[in-house]
Amino acid sequence: SPADVADIGVTGMAVMGSNLARNLARNGFKVAIHNRSVGKTEKVIADHGSDGEFYPSESMSDFVASLQKPRVAIIMVKAGGPTDAVVDELSSLMEEGDIIVDAGNALFTDTRRREAALREQGLHFVGAGVSGGEEGALNGPSIMPGGTKASYDRLGPMFEKISAEAEDGLPCCTHVGADGAGHFVKMVHNGIEYADMQVISEAYDMMSKALGMEASAIGDVFADWNKGDLESFLIEITAEVLHHTDATSGKPFVDVILDQAAQKGTGAWTVQTALDLGVPVTGIAEATFARSTSGSVPQREAGRRTLSAEAQTLEIADPAQFIDDLQKALYAAKLVSYSQGFDEIAAGAEEYGWDIDLGAMARIWREGCIIRARFLDRITEAYGRDAKLPLLLSDEYFSSEIAKCIPAWRRVVAFAAASGYPVPVFASTLSYYDAVRAERLPAALVQAQRDYFGAHTYQRVDAAGTFHVEWSEDR
Ligand code: NAP
Repeated sequence: SPADVADIGVTGMAVMGSNLARNLARNGFKVAIHNRSVGKTEKVIADHGSDGEFYPSESMSDFVASLQKPRVAIIMVKAGGPTDAVVDELSSLMEEGDIIVDAGNALFTDTRRREAALREQGLHFVGAGVSGGEEGALNGPSIMPGGTKASYDRLGPMFEKISAEAEDGLPCCTHVGADGAGHFVKMVHNGIEYADMQVISEAYDMMSKALGMEASAIGDVFADWNKGDLESFLIEITAEVLHHTDATSGKPFVDVILDQAAQKGTGAWTVQTALDLGVPVTGIAEATFARSTSGSVPQREAGRRTLSAEAQTLEIADPAQFIDDLQKALYAAKLVSYSQGFDEIAAGAEEYGWDIDLGAMARIWREGCIIRARFLDRITEAYGRDAKLPLLLSDEYFSSEIAKCIPAWRRVVAFAAASGYPVPVFASTLSYYDAVRAERLPAALVQAQRDYFGAHTYQRVDAAGTFHVEWSEDR
């Protein structure tokens, strides 16, 4: 391909990269494309060449040469080692001021490491979170770019053009913050997605087990919920999935699926990072562990054989009331999960020195991404009222919204506990809610225990300073 022509390049022509390249081309950008094995590049040209102006290259050096300076090259390959290999090859061919974007799902600490190394070479390295799956990459994802402000001056106009557009016309893309901030925010986005999916599934499970409802009837409930506060992509697709019939067996599709959920790691990263930062993301953690529990096959076999329920079979006098309770419990648990996720973003920003606008994060998740939802506007408004809100739930709107849900939420968790149904996200978010609003926590006793066996010292409610009891003398 000719030299110095393309506005932007994409290397990695698997499903995500090719769709992102097509999205750029459809929006009028001249797009250089490249893939390690040439077949994928040829297929993009053969199948979608008419989408716009593509400049295919077989070699990485031709690919780099085809880019206008300062060059912008997006990497969309397997995360981890493959990304390092491509970053090394690309950066050796780039010049000062050029920009390398990693749009894959990298761990933010890898992005920080790569950014620091490339900065030494005078290159901009931008870790960009891209959400919305294949469909989003092609038709408008939510994009979360990190890296320098200078790099965003060049990238922003292109990314904002290809990203999803919210109802008010604003793009679902903004500069998140320096170095790994974009991938950090994308990681937490995925963690919230885990919690959201799990708690929706817990509501489904209760309707199925406690009310004995058929999948399609439960699908009707979700379709109905999608008209209210819960309106979101995940509720919408849940209704569709529950209405779907398996072609082979003629049974409800959900009933023929093995009950073991897989994971690719972003949920676990969110939880590991939260543990390091000391942020209680209990909803996300329980959702991640719920997937692990589902996949613990030998443990579940042993448990099924040996563990009795000793549960009360409670009568549900009013199914409609029960479903209404589930809706409110779902909304409350969801608010807690989002609040915890935003706390983690705030803690990450503090730890790594990122100037992240929390309200803007909710704004760029309104379309394009998996957790797109109506109530994200309310989060943006809450941070608009107080950019340094220490707890999203404490905002006047959310504290009054959640208050309306509490009796129902407690009934659902109590019913599940008495009946022997697992509801890890419903229950853990309620416990968190009660802990974060408590006057006094039993942490006082934990401190006393720590002082006893480890001389870890304690602090007092009635005096400043650090104290210790000589327990052996007192005994
Ligand atoms: P993928 O299956 O993760 O990776 C395949 C691509 O990586 C191919 O182009 C492959 O080239 C290339 N590759 C693998 N090892 C390489 C190496 N050592 N050197 C050079 N190229 C190498 O592709 P994907 O599913 O399109 O995903 C791409 C990225 O997006 C991943 O980081 C993934 O986690 C992320 N992703 C995001 C979403 C989302 O919703 N945001 C969804 C899916 C994936 P060859 O053709 O030569 O093998």
